[in-house]
Amino acid sequence: MNRRQTIPKHLRYTIRDFNEQFPDDAACLEHLMQQRFPGNVTYCDKCQQERKHYRIIGRPVYSCDHCGTQISPMAGTIFEHSSTSLRLWYYAMYLMASTRCGISAKQIQRETGVTYKTAWRMFRQIRSLLSEPDMQLEGSAVEMDETYYGGKAKQGRGRPMRGDKQKTPVIGIMERSSKKRVGRVKAMATPDVTSERVLGIVHEHILPKSTVFTDEYVIYDRLGGRVKEHKRINHSSKVYVMGDVHTNTIEGFWSLVKRGIGGVYHSVSQKYLQTYLDEFSFRYNRRDQGNLIFKAFLQRACELVAPHAVEASGMTPAIQEPF
Ligand SMILES: [Zn+2]
Repeated sequence: MNRRQTIPKHLRYTIRDFNEQFPDDAACLEHLMQQRFPGNVTYCDKCQQERKHYRIIGRPVYSCDHCGTQISPMAGTIFEHSSTSLRLWYYAMYLMASTRCGISAKQIQRETGVTYKTAWRMFRQIRSLLSEPDMQLEGSAVEMDETYYGGKAKQGRGRPMRGDKQKTPVIGIMERSSKKRVGRVKAMATPDVTSERVLGIVHEHILPKSTVFTDEYVIYDRLGGRVKEHKRINHSSKVYVMGDVHTNTIEGFWSLVKRGIGGVYHSVSQKYLQTYLDEFSFRYNRRDQGNLIFKAFLQRACELVAPHAVEASGMTPAIQEPF
């Protein structure tokens, strides 16, 4: 099946569209400028007022039309201090936004000729923009489940054996799709899996009027009373669906992430795993937008980032990604 054919025309954004909109670095820079300072108007420190700015040909800066003071639209974004061309950054985002299962740094290394380290660092930076910390699920039906990444034992549904400390737990909540909206997911790498942790997440991200579906694991025991209704499926008796009682939607998301991440991670830090979860959730939560997810990536990339979030050069990939 050709997946492209399934995307409605108004939601398509093909590589041809990309090449037309962003033929070179200058086009990307102009886009960034317009996103940050519409109409090229922004505050000039020297004039101490809003001024129109003009592009300096040959340099990635704009200058005040009154006093000539220069500004860079890249300042404060993930592109600042990067020696990688802006168009390559845009292309990396286009690739990331256009897949369901993610894309490896290896692939962009092969396609563009940048080093693996550069490609890895770009992806790492882009992923860092994709978190949605304050998102609250508003659906009336929410599934909750946990899964584990890394460690020696096979990844997947299995809860860790005692002493298997290499596994990083991830707790997920997923609202089921309704006529009004496409169901969204929130996946959180957590230091532990306890009923306190579960209650904290419910309190923070799920409306009290929701019905929550889980399996029979003990950490979900105290959920009743915190939400409108708590329904549980008895997996240990090999029952997976009873009417609307199941956790299949969130489990489908876990398999999507696992397929994407591919091979086994060893000793992946929680913070690092979280950025992968954020990337998969960001796309999943916009899956009704077709290829226009790219626009959402661009929007994030044009926002300012905290100064510490821009990584120092010389940082090396901590893990080997799947090829
Ligand atoms: Zn000025």
